[in-house]
Amino acid sequence: MSILQILAPFDGWCGTLDEVPDPVFAGRMLGDGVAIDPTSGILVAPCAGEIVTLPASAHAVSIRTARGIDVLVHIGVDTVQLGGRGFEARVRPGASVRAGDELIRFDLDVVARGAKSLMTPILVTSLDGLRLQQRRAPGLVSSGEVLFEIAGIATAGIATAAGIETGAPPPRAVDPPNREAAGHTLIVTLRHGLHARPAALLAQRAKTFGAQASLSAHGRTANARSVVAIMALGVRQGDELSIQARGADAPQSVASLVAGIQEALRMESAAGHGAAADHGGVQGAAPDSSKTAPTAAPRSFADAGVLSGVIAVPGIAVGRATRIERREIAVAEHGADSGRERAELEQARVNVRMRLERVAATGGATRREIIAAHLEFLDDPQVNEAAHELIAAGKSAGFAWRTAIRRSISALQALEDSRLRERVDDLLDVESHVLLALAGEARPMNIPLPERAVLVADDLLPSELTALDRQRLVAICLSGGGATSHVAILAAAMDIPMLVGLGSGIRDIAYGATVIVDADAGTLQTAPAATAVEQARAAVESRLMRRAKTLAEAQLECRALDGTRVEVFANLGNVTDAAAAVAHGAEGCGLLRTEFLFIDRETAPTETEQLAAYQDIAAALGPRPMILRLMDVGGDKPLRYLPLPAEENPALGLRGVRTALAYPDLMRTQLRAALRVQPAGNVRLLIPMITDAAEILAVRSVIDDLKAEIGIADRIELGAMIETPAAALMASALIREVDFLSIGSNDLTQYTLAMDRGHPELAGRTDALHPAVLKLVAAAAGAGGAAGKMVAVCGGVAADRLAVPLLLGLGVRELSVVPAAVPAIKRQIRSLRISDCRELALRCLGLASPGEVRAQAAEMLGPLGDTP
Ligand code: PEP
Ligand code: MG
Repeated sequence: MSILQILAPFDGWCGTLDEVPDPVFAGRMLGDGVAIDPTSGILVAPCAGEIVTLPASAHAVSIRTARGIDVLVHIGVDTVQLGGRGFEARVRPGASVRAGDELIRFDLDVVARGAKSLMTPILVTSLDGLRLQQRRAPGLVSSGEVLFEIAGIATAGIATAAGIETGAPPPRAVDPPNREAAGHTLIVTLRHGLHARPAALLAQRAKTFGAQASLSAHGRTANARSVVAIMALGVRQGDELSIQARGADAPQSVASLVAGIQEALRMESAAGHGAAADHGGVQGAAPDSSKTAPTAAPRSFADAGVLSGVIAVPGIAVGRATRIERREIAVAEHGADSGRERAELEQARVNVRMRLERVAATGGATRREIIAAHLEFLDDPQVNEAAHELIAAGKSAGFAWRTAIRRSISALQALEDSRLRERVDDLLDVESHVLLALAGEARPMNIPLPERAVLVADDLLPSELTALDRQRLVAICLSGGGATSHVAILAAAMDIPMLVGLGSGIRDIAYGATVIVDADAGTLQTAPAATAVEQARAAVESRLMRRAKTLAEAQLECRALDGTRVEVFANLGNVTDAAAAVAHGAEGCGLLRTEFLFIDRETAPTETEQLAAYQDIAAALGPRPMILRLMDVGGDKPLRYLPLPAEENPALGLRGVRTALAYPDLMRTQLRAALRVQPAGNVRLLIPMITDAAEILAVRSVIDDLKAEIGIADRIELGAMIETPAAALMASALIREVDFLSIGSNDLTQYTLAMDRGHPELAGRTDALHPAVLKLVAAAAGAGGAAGKMVAVCGGVAADRLAVPLLLGLGVRELSVVPAAVPAIKRQIRSLRISDCRELALRCLGLASPGEVRAQAAEMLGPLGDTP
């Protein structure tokens, strides 16, 4: 049955889209339909609906029908460049119209003289799950006659009343009718809202589905495939976000976008302690606006020759002020031929992509992530559509690209969120890459610097920083910039002290002048006395020695002051983490979160794929043990290929071991891969979300079967995660069935306090040092101690300085933390005596609140300067 008929918007000669002299229309890039060469100048609505777009130039109009089908009528080709000359809008955007209502009047002569062609495409731009039928044969057509019908893919065509939709939703070939549109509304709990990285994550997910997905907040709507559009929504922590999708796989698309937000949350909490993976982890931390000087830091000129700024990367440096030159790239406004300009832009983007991918391959994880964000900007549909429109209007490729980027920049600059405003530099970076490529050039890969250079500039682009000679660059000082910009994140990863927001005073610093950058205090001394320079040099020297010592000591076995052995392991998600863990002195992997392999794909990873991934990590760990946690999926980590039912309360539903037991094939494949990793003795298996011993026995029996099947005789150690109060309280029964326990304090805290671990308003209260949580840790550690078996903590609390003595005091003997935190934790453990820890823990178990516990621990540990 047809859903809708589309009527001729004016009299004319009806032809096909192939006759439109524009590859965008002729190539069906915007949608499918017909084209009419008009003989009358009154454009009427081809169907009923709401006017979605009708630009000031009034050369085109699009209508959204009640069922969400978008129909576009674009009068002629390249008519936007007439700037409205010859056109008159008769309705406004937002108006509801009936089929046949007058929308635009246009002067046929004026438009014919100014346009490349009058051939007018009439298109359906949202064709998911729909098809056109009964297309009118070429020939004369009168306004109001049927041009074509829109029907569901699997239906036969029975015409309905002209221009009126049938009441039923459009039928779909693959999905039942009620699954063609889906939606979900949630509160964004990400600390920094939908900033660049989550936006990129969502756009990538949206692109893997056929459905058209959009995100709405603050009354604005964004194409979910466009990073720029998502960022321009300005979604902050606590904001309501509505996710909508239309198309055959709309529900899966929405589920994936919801999962994307959860994934971003997990990445945020995995990054927990702030230090970037390839940061030293010993000194300072990656930019974190909550810890560094606030953006409103006083810009004081009280001391002559001292400028105050915002700390982006802490540290101290002494060096010579240096500037780098940035060449303005000139572009001509008008292009020769729109086809050629379009092709040149496409080629430039291809060249930039290849180049960025090459650069990414040579850098660390942070650089790769930032380049991934730049690649998203490069392919951003909103930016590219705008550029193509400008080219169609006669602009050159360079002008069009620059204008499209600058429009997105203006949208970001209008936002209140400084994090999103800081993405402007990234867009400028992508802009200049493409403009240089259009000019047949590339940004130099190596920008020379003098010895001990302190870079002084108004701003710095990420690609400029990566091109600077790292060996000679000792600090960065910017008059503007932001502490959370990508260039600051890169500087943190490269361990270069950096100050931003120093103000225009830095422009007066002479080239080559000796300056002191105290990025711990947030000051730049522009004319220091010789004695101050000496003192600063000594401070730099002793800091370097201290760091080298801590890092060297991190490679050694870790014992508390009284000789008690405590193992410090690392939590890993991939092979890059494994390399970082080894570099930071981790003694093994205490938690391999294997679920990252399972989520965000169309099909389950095969045994071979899993084996390869686990083996790579095992190889990076060398002789160190690897605790491989069985997939913790389900609940808030849905899988596209698992038909898990929607749950009211995902945190309390099918997740962890419950999902594994419900889908035994999935579990068997993973276990087979895990059992085949070499050397077998280094692999230990860990079961998530345990609540009773029966779950352990069920998994163990599968392991035993598989071992017999594969022919493995070695003993494989098995552990249970303590993430539920039930598991903690049953620990003495559980420990009989396993070789070790690992406490997942993130979930244990959430389930003990009945507070969602991602809830923004409860963030300050979901504290693992709550005495109730400590009592459960004590129960688990006590059961492990009585059985002579290892009890570890692998949740975020293991890297909390105040928690470390408490955990050791309760009997925990292994801590597993993010790789960068390993040296600091080892150093702290070496300063602790277990008897003091025990005394502290006993005292804290009797306290009434986490605040009191923290106060007691802080009193025992003394001031922060004590730890690295
Ligand atoms: C935990 O719950 O503490 C844990 C380590 O598991 P995850 O954070 O992956 O849920
Ligand atoms: Mg957990």
